[in-house]
Amino acid sequence: MSGRYYIEVYGCSLNHADAALAAGMLEAAGYRRVETPWEADVILVFTCTVRLDSEERMTRRIRVLSGVAEKTGATLVVAGCMAAAQPYTVKRIYPKALLLSPANPHRVLECLRRRRSLLHEPARPKTLYTPPPRIAMHGRVAEIPIVDGCLGDCAFCITKLARRRLYSRPLEVVKRYAEELVRSGALELRVTGQDAAAYGVDIYGERLLPRLVEELASIPGDFMIRVGMMSPDQLLPILDELLEAMRSPKVYKFLHVPVQCGDDELLRIMGRKYTVDDVRYIVREARRRLPGVTIATDIIVGHPGEDEEAFRNTLRLLEELRFERVHVAQYTPRPRTRAAAMKQVPDPVKKERSKRVMEIVQRIGFEEHSRLVGARARCLALGPGERGGVEARLYNYVQVILPEGVEPGWVEVEITEATWYDVRARPTLMPLEGS
Ligand code: SF4
Repeated sequence: MSGRYYIEVYGCSLNHADAALAAGMLEAAGYRRVETPWEADVILVFTCTVRLDSEERMTRRIRVLSGVAEKTGATLVVAGCMAAAQPYTVKRIYPKALLLSPANPHRVLECLRRRRSLLHEPARPKTLYTPPPRIAMHGRVAEIPIVDGCLGDCAFCITKLARRRLYSRPLEVVKRYAEELVRSGALELRVTGQDAAAYGVDIYGERLLPRLVEELASIPGDFMIRVGMMSPDQLLPILDELLEAMRSPKVYKFLHVPVQCGDDELLRIMGRKYTVDDVRYIVREARRRLPGVTIATDIIVGHPGEDEEAFRNTLRLLEELRFERVHVAQYTPRPRTRAAAMKQVPDPVKKERSKRVMEIVQRIGFEEHSRLVGARARCLALGPGERGGVEARLYNYVQVILPEGVEPGWVEVEITEATWYDVRARPTLMPLEGS
């Protein structure tokens, strides 16, 4: 089986990793990647449906790509979360689409050969496979998904319908793959999962993230490890050991702990299994044990049950804990979730609250970053940034934008400017403009 494939990928790093796995399988079978769907025999789209606007975008793309498939005779494979969480929506748009769930990207060839959708749990999980580094790496950055799915059951989350079970990648598979990535030139290994703190529970019966981080940090080479998102309730039991493992100079001092809101009653309605005090404890401990640590969090604005008082509690928490980075999302109802059936917060209220949260987030981000201006630091240059310049990271994962032309690797810099989101810097060995 061989031919040409075209691939489009949306959503989070897990979806990108699944797409890399499928692309690796196709290329191993002789398929060649092409740049437009018009040239392809197989068109793959890895969908994301985390929010209503993502779903609408996917719907538009599936319509366009199915139009191409109809004209050229190509096979359209709709993979990713929408395939599993909303298969009927996809089939309504294009009944001939083959569906490939997030549990099955490694079976893409079987899907094509048998011309059958694969939506059920596979006998051999995808976590036993890894894509070739040349497909998985973005420049010098490599994502290593260590665990798929989560142990939670949040009222708002559609991902639970798409990635139903916890699947950890065995420790030796992760380590061997990390070694391969480092040999291929990776400077940053991003250890990711929907909930990295739950790593290991399904296959080892215990949370093994601290041990995994230690193992990865023991790999020889000049690279950094970034630990991905961790739910507070899963992080708490391993907090002590994880902070210890993160003291290694090869691990960014960075934690991503999504609090979602600052109100205990609203956390209960959301189905989150921790309290605001649990998060306060995590933040306090992390800052005490890892000086300079960056703590990122996520906030959902306008979830059902969020009254003005609950919302104010969220604002107060942001002021109190001063997270260095906050991802803010306006709640949108997702099909077949509990929160979708609850009384909704009106859209104008959500909008206005998002604005109020963003004002605080931007002010605190700017204040924190401004403190760095004038400092000299070492940062790891990774490659071209999305909005120009060269992207780099400080030891605590603060994003640094360097001038064009800086080569990947460690570089001494002086921080010259701050925004709420990142800092700008120039290498100390680079002459000032005009001098
Ligand atoms: S896991 Fe969530 S964010 Fe990632 S692709 Fe699926 S729906 Fe999108």
